[in-house]
Order: sequence, then C-alpha cells, then structure tokens
Amino acid sequence: MNQRLPVQGAQGDLLRLVATGKAESRAELARLSGLAASSVSLRVEELIDAGLLAEEGSGTSRGGRRPRRLRLSPGAGVLAVADLGAHHVRLGLLDLSGAPLVIEERGCEIADGPQVTLDRIADAFDELLAAHVPPSVPLRGVGTGIPGPVDPSSQRVVTPSRMPGWNGFPVADHLAARYDLPVLVENDANLMAAGEARWWPGSENLMVVKAGTGIGCGVIVNGRLHRGRGAAGDISHVRVRSDSSIVCACGHPDCLEAYASGAALMAALQESGIEATRTADIVTLVDDAIPEATSLVRTAGRRIGEVLTVLVNFFNPDVVAVGGSLSAAEPLLTSIRAAVWERCLPLATRDLEIAPARAGRDAALLGAGTLLLEAALKVTS
Ligand SMILES: [Zn+2]
Repeated sequence: MNQRLPVQGAQGDLLRLVATGKAESRAELARLSGLAASSVSLRVEELIDAGLLAEEGSGTSRGGRRPRRLRLSPGAGVLAVADLGAHHVRLGLLDLSGAPLVIEERGCEIADGPQVTLDRIADAFDELLAAHVPPSVPLRGVGTGIPGPVDPSSQRVVTPSRMPGWNGFPVADHLAARYDLPVLVENDANLMAAGEARWWPGSENLMVVKAGTGIGCGVIVNGRLHRGRGAAGDISHVRVRSDSSIVCACGHPDCLEAYASGAALMAALQESGIEATRTADIVTLVDDAIPEATSLVRTAGRRIGEVLTVLVNFFNPDVVAVGGSLSAAEPLLTSIRAAVWERCLPLATRDLEIAPARAGRDAALLGAGTLLLEAALKVTS
C-alpha cells in the first residue's frame, strides 16, 4: 500500500519531533515547537486518530499522574531506501524514526543504465515490502543515493563519472511514476553525511569524506546538510599538484579523483601487474602488506589531505569523518591526518577531530531515511 503522509505544516513538525526522538510528551512538543499546549493537544489527537502516533502510560501511579509517552505508531508507515554503488546496491526498509527493519545488499551493475537499474531497485523494494511489512502498513516514501552529482531542483543526475547513460536522466520522475509518493534522489556522499551527523551529537559542522571507487564529500553546516546549488562538497575534480599529468574522466588534467579514487588506484595497480577489480581488493592488498598497494594508498591519503587542508582552513569544521570502502585501508586516514595537521592553521586544528566514520556501511541508508522523512512531511494533502 502506497500512501502519502496525511499531515500539514505544524502537524508534520510535531510528528517529526516524535519520530526523531526529540520529544516524548505533549509538554516537550509544546516547548520545542513553540505552539500553545492546547494547539499541540489538538494536533496530537489528530495524529493519533490518523494512526500515526500512539500514546502509552496514560494511567496514574502512586507518585501522582505519570506523563503519557508519545511514540510513533508501529503502523505509521515505512520508507524504502537504497544506496547505489558501481557494482552493487544496498537497500532496505526503515520505519519513520529511521530504524532499519531490514537491510540487504544485491549485485547491480550501474553501467546497465538508469531504467534497468532503477527497475531492479524498485522490484527489490516490492519484494522486501511483501516479505517484511504487513499489507496494512503503508509505504510513505522512496529514496536512493546516486554515486554522482544530482541537481536538487530537478533530481536529475548531472555529468556523472563511470555511469554511462545516466547523464540528465530524470531519476525521481522515473521512481515517482511507479510509486506516486515523495521521492528523494541525492548524491551518495550527501546521504552518508546526513547519516553520519546523527553519530556526532554536539558537533554541528562536519565534513564527511567518502573514499570509495570515486571520491565524494558531504558537508553538514549547523547540523543540517549543506547542498549549495547541488555540488557542495564535491571535491573530486579539485586540481592537485603533480609532476606528471593524468587526464580525468571530466576532461581536465590532474583532478583529485584521477589520482586518489579507488578507480585510479585500481588502474595504477593493474599497470604494475597486480589484479584489483574492486576497492575491497585494494584493502586486502594493503592488509597483506603488498608494498605497491600500501604506497598508493598512502599517496592517495596525502593528496586527499592536501585538498582538505584548504577546506579545513576555510570551513573550520568540528569533525572530518572519513568513510567509504577505501577508508578500511588503514594508511589512508593516517596520511590524511598527517597532511591536515602539517598544513592547517593551529586554530583550525586545535579541536578538530579527524576520525573514521562512525555510522558504518549503512550511513547512507540512515541519511536517506532522515532526509526522506523531511521530504515526506513537506507534502501537504
Ligand atoms: Zn575531473
């Protein structure tokens, strides 16, 4: 069953406060929303009637009246989210609080093009829904991460690397035609940043680097994802200093991605006669102490770190979190740290944390849940 969330303006804000765990009672909702207690109560009753919220603990205890605890109704709905990689897709179902109900990974070649790939994802969603969600619980939104730039106004993919056939494809329209629900299409590093932000309470400004087949970065400013005009955080085509010259897939020479991405390292390894077809292979080679691999990863980390020095000085974040499949190669983070500590202003690095990402491999799916709930609540019926 597909159904848009039947909420409007302030009601949506109240539902989100409960869904994200920020409020558990009517009093907390009144305090956080700034609405009058009477108007909070009216809207909470409507949300309960709509089957979205439940209230428990309404009895009295010996110590006096216990506050009733608000929570999401288990039947409030689910979100279907995916994170598309070059050769696989991770996908799953979340409840409206963003808690995973089921997550799995399937093989999926992005080079097969958008129609085939997106239909494969949608078929997988349908299978998961049939297997894990009672028919009475509605699907409330669909979202996917894309390993390339996404225009936030049209939700189309714009000049991606290594994604033949995807340029300009209306990803959101394609999914919306199948589901008629709020659809989120977002760059994968942005989703990862949104998911990671929940793991750094107290840190409002983060840069989250995704080092995988490509290189991406998501930026959290004052606790919220900063998209800019869509390309914010895209560090892959920043020019790096080099004695040699490599032309990047974008046509310009010496982009960071042409030197330090998993794809670039795999190409370099293959030139030395060492087999590596996935970034995980690079990590294995480093773990096996193959000197060419270790040296390449170390150099990649230094190059990423050199680009980050400019950004850390400029943006001065609380945290630089490094994730993505290549980040499991230990020398990467060490070299990034060394470059940033060496070159950045002392004031910029004084309280800066450069650390492995905390949210794990499902960061992007969790981020998709957060952003999709926001998108679903913006829709008024
Ligand atoms: Zn480039």
